Amino acid sequence: MLGAGLLPLGAQTKAKLVSSMRLYVFDCGHIKAMSVTTFGFKEGEVPTRDFIVTCYLVVHPRGTLMWDTGLTPDSALKPDSGVRPLKTQLAEIGYAPADITYLAMSHYHSDHTANANDFASATWIVQTAERDAMFADQPTRIMAQATFSALKNSQTKILMGEDYDVFGDGSAVIKSAPGHTPGHQVLFLKFAKDGNILLAGDLYHFPEEQTLNRFPTFEFNVPQSGKSRAAIDEFLAKTKAMMWISHDLATYNKAKKAPQYYE
Ligand SMILES: [Zn+2]
Repeated sequence: MLGAGLLPLGAQTKAKLVSSMRLYVFDCGHIKAMSVTTFGFKEGEVPTRDFIVTCYLVVHPRGTLMWDTGLTPDSALKPDSGVRPLKTQLAEIGYAPADITYLAMSHYHSDHTANANDFASATWIVQTAERDAMFADQPTRIMAQATFSALKNSQTKILMGEDYDVFGDGSAVIKSAPGHTPGHQVLFLKFAKDGNILLAGDLYHFPEEQTLNRFPTFEFNVPQSGKSRAAIDEFLAKTKAMMWISHDLATYNKAKKAPQYYE
């Protein structure tokens, strides 16, 4: 009675306390039969036309960070989609949206924002150029404003095209990498056992964008993307981080998925 009585109303008691940082990976959707020319390729230059949509939860001794929120809102998921609700996947490892301390998304495209409204009680970390575009009167394409409208009133940490050390110890750093969208960002993670990982968002979609130097046709600003890619290349070399292209099926297929985790 004593312990329970001291918890604030609505506090999640199941959420795990951790002594070192973890990364959980979720299946948040499937995009099939993409047009490869949309990504700057000729037919046959890439081995697959299918994407995975990944969501990630970082659990740190000082809080939790949700990174990207999926393709389809949980409430709109079709039973035959083969994708389980994000809230179900979170519950299976002991978390509810109310437990999440921070929300950040790589960018505003609708395959990354589907369940964003569920995390409106978290502190939203966003680049100012991205937030401005998200709440502009004229939404750009590949944007679903209804999926993130609740964030307008969230506690927000606005970044001015800068990097941000989420937990203050260098273990989870959001890095500005604009070009795909005005305020696209990536997430650098430094693990005790599993080394350094960079969640690259949509800096690339296919690994061949990197090797063949191609850009999607729907890039917000190609020269800016080129600069971001070069800066991240340099950063990867310096940190020896493994770059995780979030839509890449091959990377996902061999990754640890929740309830397993990186640590
Ligand atoms: Zn995407």
